[in-house]
Amino acid sequence: MSLENLLRAFDGPDTRSLVRTPGKFGLGQIPSGNVPVSTTTTVCGFCSTGCGLNVHMGESGAVNVTPDPTYPVNLGMACPKGWEAIAVLDAPDRGTVPLLLDRATGERKPIPWTDALNLMADKFRLLRAEHGTESAAFLSTGQIPTEEMFFLGCLWKFGLGYLHADSNTRQCMATAHVAYKQSFGYDAPPFSYDDFEESDVLVFIGANPCIAHPILWERVMRNPRKPEIIVLDPRRTETAQAATHHVQMAPKSDLTLLYAVLRHVIERGWVDRAFVEASTAGFKDLSTFVSTFSDQEALELAKISREDLEILVQAFRPGRRVSCWWTMGVNQSHEAVRTAQAIINLCLVTGNIGKPGTGPNSITGQMNAMGSRLYSNTSGLVGGREFANPEHRQEVSRILDIPLESIPDRASLAYDQILDAAVDGKIKALWVIATNPAHSWIGSGTFRKARDNLEFLVVQDMYHSSETALMADLYLPAAGWGEKEGTQINSERRIGVSKRVRRPPGQALSDFDIFRLVAQASGCNKMFERFTSPEAAFGLMRELSAGKPHDITGIRDYRQIDAAGGIQWPYPLRNDRVAIPENLRAGMPAPLSGEVVGDEGHRRLFADGRFFTPDGKAKLLFTPPRNPEEMPDAQYDLVLTTGRGSSAQWHTGTRTSKSAVLRNLSPKTLILEMNPLDAARRGLESGSEVVVGSRRGSLVATLLATPNIAAGAVFLPMHDRRVNILTFPSFDPHSREPSYKHAAVSVHKGPPL
Ligand code: SF4
Repeated sequence: MSLENLLRAFDGPDTRSLVRTPGKFGLGQIPSGNVPVSTTTTVCGFCSTGCGLNVHMGESGAVNVTPDPTYPVNLGMACPKGWEAIAVLDAPDRGTVPLLLDRATGERKPIPWTDALNLMADKFRLLRAEHGTESAAFLSTGQIPTEEMFFLGCLWKFGLGYLHADSNTRQCMATAHVAYKQSFGYDAPPFSYDDFEESDVLVFIGANPCIAHPILWERVMRNPRKPEIIVLDPRRTETAQAATHHVQMAPKSDLTLLYAVLRHVIERGWVDRAFVEASTAGFKDLSTFVSTFSDQEALELAKISREDLEILVQAFRPGRRVSCWWTMGVNQSHEAVRTAQAIINLCLVTGNIGKPGTGPNSITGQMNAMGSRLYSNTSGLVGGREFANPEHRQEVSRILDIPLESIPDRASLAYDQILDAAVDGKIKALWVIATNPAHSWIGSGTFRKARDNLEFLVVQDMYHSSETALMADLYLPAAGWGEKEGTQINSERRIGVSKRVRRPPGQALSDFDIFRLVAQASGCNKMFERFTSPEAAFGLMRELSAGKPHDITGIRDYRQIDAAGGIQWPYPLRNDRVAIPENLRAGMPAPLSGEVVGDEGHRRLFADGRFFTPDGKAKLLFTPPRNPEEMPDAQYDLVLTTGRGSSAQWHTGTRTSKSAVLRNLSPKTLILEMNPLDAARRGLESGSEVVVGSRRGSLVATLLATPNIAAGAVFLPMHDRRVNILTFPSFDPHSREPSYKHAAVSVHKGPPL
């Protein structure tokens, strides 16, 4: 089909939407008008909780949503973002046409889609011819369906022939991905949400589910076992206030503290010897290593009491089901992977894995970070594979019918390295999809410097007004959640279907359709003939999963997922055609009949104590802790940590700021939390304006003196675009995830520095 015909087809009547009346899953058209006429189901498109929503359809599409009481994730609950999911689609700054920037005048003018696509295809073709396959990169997102990420990754690397690509999941889940992969042999979060309700002890480390994952906190509140809840965090967060114990440690003292806890566990004989012997490797070395971590060292660094340490140690005494949950307080650190693995080690050594109410459990951030981890074709080859592995490349070539030589044999640069290469002029063009790095990237000056050196910046987004979209040479208007279809994978590995319940505004197109058009304009569409629809792409993803730990060959189609209330991976088909190697079978539930419609309830991995490593044993990994790269000194004497401000806000606010309800539920000013001792020492009054400065810049905020933050630290919410002026760009060496939790700052009265 020609480019013109494809465009004409998109302008025609919509016959591809998936609209379901209760109990049925059928294809239909979105009617016109606004009277509620039917209800369908979908999955929320903000966070990784993956709540099920009922969508109430008017005559011109979705009118509003309510939480789905039958969905096994949220059981009829939703947070404010979910309730307002439709409202944010109606914003006046939605992109409706492609826009071309005149760099000389700063003016943006509408251009036809055909011109936009041809311009883009020509630019990328020319750059590759003149400067090679490393001269451009894309920066994508955890906020689009897996099928779209999958198509984009294949198009970019196999079709357009470029090497470098990364996603904003680097900013949230790269650490968990690498930690699990190194320890378990595969990126495999082991838990099910039922574990919140089945634990005797829940330890939250650098996690604030009351605000960041409120529905998961509701699941904790349903726990009938009267659990002990311990929170390890420099802030007395909402979760810490509701917990049994709050261990208010100094920022980034967690790794040393966790090693000291493990030493106690080993010395007190609380090791599950049988499990350690049968299912782990490296215990002797780990024991020797942690034996050197004294209480005194841990207590001095963490600035906690001996009683606090004892509470942490007692959490792991035998006979109780212990689950550990972590999020960005761990993931966004200079030694994040080893900190996550210190948590993993504690659970492995005490046998708290593969059983109800246990597990070293990483709660994901974005709604589809897991989809990105498996299928985005950025840091790993599609379907949980490695670019450097020749067998993996051959599998992908065979399954996708793509020439072997089109598949790169090495991984991409990571996000920070891509931006550094752009600053250096080696990367000359960027394609940014559904993310806002001008606001969100650490030390935000880096993105602006990169932009100044780029020859060509394309931004594809729902809104033409994000900080990054405003910098784009070419802006492409994209459909948002609710205006397209696809699947996403939540924190407990549950695949859910998101449906098209609205028509996108103007000429905005789904990301999937934009990728089809880019392939067409670039002349590589033959390679992607089988990518006819998101569901067709899902079929390819299913084929790519065969024999992998996340095998989903038992999932027939979207209807099956929808009818089951989502399906957790793995979900292999019982079929001799699917030959799963013995070592990869470890940890999987018994193979299921492909004819079974519906999930098998909630599943956790590793019930048989077999992991995805070659010998089936989990690795116990460790490294001596080291100081963050930017430590406080006489001039910048406080540690800045950043995080979520309220449950009504999402990341850079590109969507959530569009809802009046969500704006009303969010703080109106930028509030700096500081311990009253630090405020008194500086003569600062709560409620006054203060200047927060780092070596990279300064901003004005309103001071809140509160014991909720440890002395020596200050906290700012990440949703204000100025906050990343202050953060210090350092990265975990294994995951290259940025450390948003530790920068040296000063706080003063008076005018900006
Ligand atoms: S908790 Fe997450 S998935 Fe659930 S409604 Fe809120 S934003 Fe959506």
